[in-house]
Amino acid sequence: MKPSSSLKSLLKNIDHKGYPAYKSTQGDYNFQNYILGIDHVQGDPFASPSRLNIQIKGKTAGFPKIYYNTSYKRIALQDHLTRLFGKSLEKFSFKAKGSGKSGLISISRCGQEVLERTACEICPDTGNITMHFDVGFPANGRSINSRELEKILFQFLPDCVESSLFYKNIDAKLLEQVIFLAEDQNFIRKQLPLLGLTSFVADGAILPRQSGISQKPLKSAVPFTSPEPFQITLNLPHHGPITGMGISKGITLIVGGGYHGKSTLLKALELGVYNHISGDGREYVITDASAVKIRAEDGRSIKNTDISMFINNLPNGKDTRSFSTEDASGSTSQAANVIEAVEAGTSLFLIDEDTSATNFMIRDELMQRVVHRQNEPITPFIERVRSLYEKNGISSIIVAGSSGSYFHVADHILQMDQYIPKDITAFVKEEAKAFPAASLPNETFAKPEFHRSFPCNRELKGNRRVKMKTLGKNAFSLNKETVDLRYLEQLADSEQTTALGYALLYAQLHFMDGNRNIKQVVDALFDLIETKGLASILDSKYVKSNLAMPRKQEVFGCLNRYRKL
Ligand code: ADP
Ligand code: MG
Repeated sequence: MKPSSSLKSLLKNIDHKGYPAYKSTQGDYNFQNYILGIDHVQGDPFASPSRLNIQIKGKTAGFPKIYYNTSYKRIALQDHLTRLFGKSLEKFSFKAKGSGKSGLISISRCGQEVLERTACEICPDTGNITMHFDVGFPANGRSINSRELEKILFQFLPDCVESSLFYKNIDAKLLEQVIFLAEDQNFIRKQLPLLGLTSFVADGAILPRQSGISQKPLKSAVPFTSPEPFQITLNLPHHGPITGMGISKGITLIVGGGYHGKSTLLKALELGVYNHISGDGREYVITDASAVKIRAEDGRSIKNTDISMFINNLPNGKDTRSFSTEDASGSTSQAANVIEAVEAGTSLFLIDEDTSATNFMIRDELMQRVVHRQNEPITPFIERVRSLYEKNGISSIIVAGSSGSYFHVADHILQMDQYIPKDITAFVKEEAKAFPAASLPNETFAKPEFHRSFPCNRELKGNRRVKMKTLGKNAFSLNKETVDLRYLEQLADSEQTTALGYALLYAQLHFMDGNRNIKQVVDALFDLIETKGLASILDSKYVKSNLAMPRKQEVFGCLNRYRKL
């Protein structure tokens, strides 16, 4: 490691030279309280910015060990520091001037969810902190302006590090609240299975979002209130007693008139697999972390999936025990989504009629009389939902405002009434007696089989420069092959999408040998991440990428949507 003074003189020497001379700054420099690392230097002022890091010894940073000695607290601390450091960097971005990206300073932007990110890594043993961020090295035209870079590295950065990464200088009370919230959230998550619950929504929670493009809470929202028979009170370690709605295992139906807040509640449950930051409104909305939103996804590809639980005797004679298509219909796509979620180890389905294929969900009595069962390839979800719970232990929460069929199979029924849920289970069961249930034949069906294994896409093997490109939150492309993840609705952040892209690449190059099945591949990936960290799925030539941790369920979802296997 070199002293920071040598960086200073190096910068003086290369001023006004051609841009590539910046490359010589690569390396680690000692700045007394921290080390500045220059990992990657951009090729020109318009290219993606240079990649830097700050490394601080745990002793110097001074954060109490109890703030990072479990993974959920460490993640909360990392998230908080990324936000603090990001905020202080923001003040200086583009304060140094020049052409192209000159003077840009940026770090991963955190949203409403608290996610593990490669931007900030804290070692659970030593408390050593590493922050990764980007700096546009300043130039005039294409010649180096190193006096401006000196400002960034010798004035701005020390100021940011000092004010946001040392415990003694930050708002300790605020950080304590962050850690306490993480402990409370973790407490609820652990309590759910012990209490036989799939999810919890606290009274006072704010569920609706500002708009379709903003995840901030809606300002004028009606706060959540729990209906009586669903009410439970949990005694959180820091918050103390908190009352809210506990949704039991089994089959829960959410009904109600249009625009009364059904989908909003379901959406909050979908994202309740993550912890949310203070002020989000969904801090105490916690869902079984394995929950999967199931929806129709016309046009997706399906590879050798056993959808025979729902689809049989297709008119084209296709085998539905190992079903493949490049262009699935609404019902076959939703069937595949269910089966793949079972394979991914879910214990809770979340389904909204708004985004479901009707013929996958129900078939009413009259239709059964007109079109005989033998002529209908689809066994609707309503005929399987009970045994999925009883045999596979998978609960369902279903939003259905327009069909009463599910009344007969539901254990619990909620009605959303002007954004307030009411328990109507007893009332509905009484009313439903007058209406015959669509006959549900008690036929047995073969359990889906999960033996699928795929070899690596040959175009990638041996290709030294595979291009991975993230296309926002909804897709990425691997060597121009786009993988559409738009309908993995529980993806919360584009950095998760980036991570999925690299995970898919890594899995193919290292684990997909045609022998390991999909589950073994995903397990191998997560074992690697657990022992070596999320960044370990990045080959060294991709150091520039910021990743956020996806769930196992989304990794399965991503593998299942890649058309090149
Ligand atoms: P549904 O699925 O029952 O038709 P939505 O959940 O889509 O209804 O909600 C309809 C509208 O009401 C949305 O614009 C949503 O933001 C808003 N909304 C939902 N919950 C609340 C609430 N608690 N307070 C105020 N507005 C809400
Ligand atoms: Mg709706």
